[in-house]
Amino acid sequence: MTEQQENDDSIFIEEDTEFGAEFVDSIIKYYDESNRKRIADGKLHIADITFCARKQLIPQVFPSQAGVNVYTASNFMRGSGAESAMIPILQYKYKNHETECQMDIAFDNISGHPDFINHDEGVVFELKNTNAQGPLTIDSDNLKSYTRQVVYYMLLTGLEKGKVIVQYGLPFEMEYDLKTKQHTVTYRNKQKKIPFFFYKISIPKDHPLRTKIKFILNDLIRPALVKAVKERDLTIIPVLAEKKKRHWKCVTCEYKQYCDMLPDKQNDPELRSFLLNEHIDNIVKIRK
Ligand code: SF4
Repeated sequence: MTEQQENDDSIFIEEDTEFGAEFVDSIIKYYDESNRKRIADGKLHIADITFCARKQLIPQVFPSQAGVNVYTASNFMRGSGAESAMIPILQYKYKNHETECQMDIAFDNISGHPDFINHDEGVVFELKNTNAQGPLTIDSDNLKSYTRQVVYYMLLTGLEKGKVIVQYGLPFEMEYDLKTKQHTVTYRNKQKKIPFFFYKISIPKDHPLRTKIKFILNDLIRPALVKAVKERDLTIIPVLAEKKKRHWKCVTCEYKQYCDMLPDKQNDPELRSFLLNEHIDNIVKIRK
């Protein structure tokens, strides 16, 4: 840069790698500490069992080796950013209703926090953000863990209606046509042409799972998780069926390396099924 350039009234920008490195370090420490605090309370958190119980337990059994990285932390941030942006919109939409954010569901050693509840209409909301590469449809596999989470919350709150709002992390994709040599922008949610996907769930008041769910969580799932951590034995927590199919859930799992070293030795078919959330998956039916 010449002296003349430095002496004019320019405003300079430059890449701030030093602050960037400090910030990334803070992101990782912040999420790592929050995770450890959550784990240390000894409770079963509903959100921790809806994707893969084994994945949630690996950092507890291997605390020094497995931790948050900048990519997983960035995913958490994307999710909480979408949630923080959607809550005021729901509060605005339901301004004349009694509503609640992050309701504290707590019984025995089970804990859950539905993102938003409309008490007047009896609806549980879950607010999500996805980086899914393709457009979502009602039978998309990506929705499975969202559905499980809302179903647990509906069963535990006694509410009959649930709604899931999914915002696309990147709402559109560029497609390049080799013949015309032109790019076109296509919304991932091609049918609806908007960067959101919505679906609803209903569970009747007298559904038989309502009376069993606390027993399943407190007396079957939780003791298995506690035993796995106490005995440092993750072989009793089953591997997702998706792993064999080289599904993205396992291919992109940051703990796959540890998971690969731990065989799946859960031989009790009933407990296995509960740990894999099949008591919910097997009864969810899609109405198109
Ligand atoms: S690789 Fe798959 S089964 Fe193993 S911990 Fe990760 S998500 Fe779970």
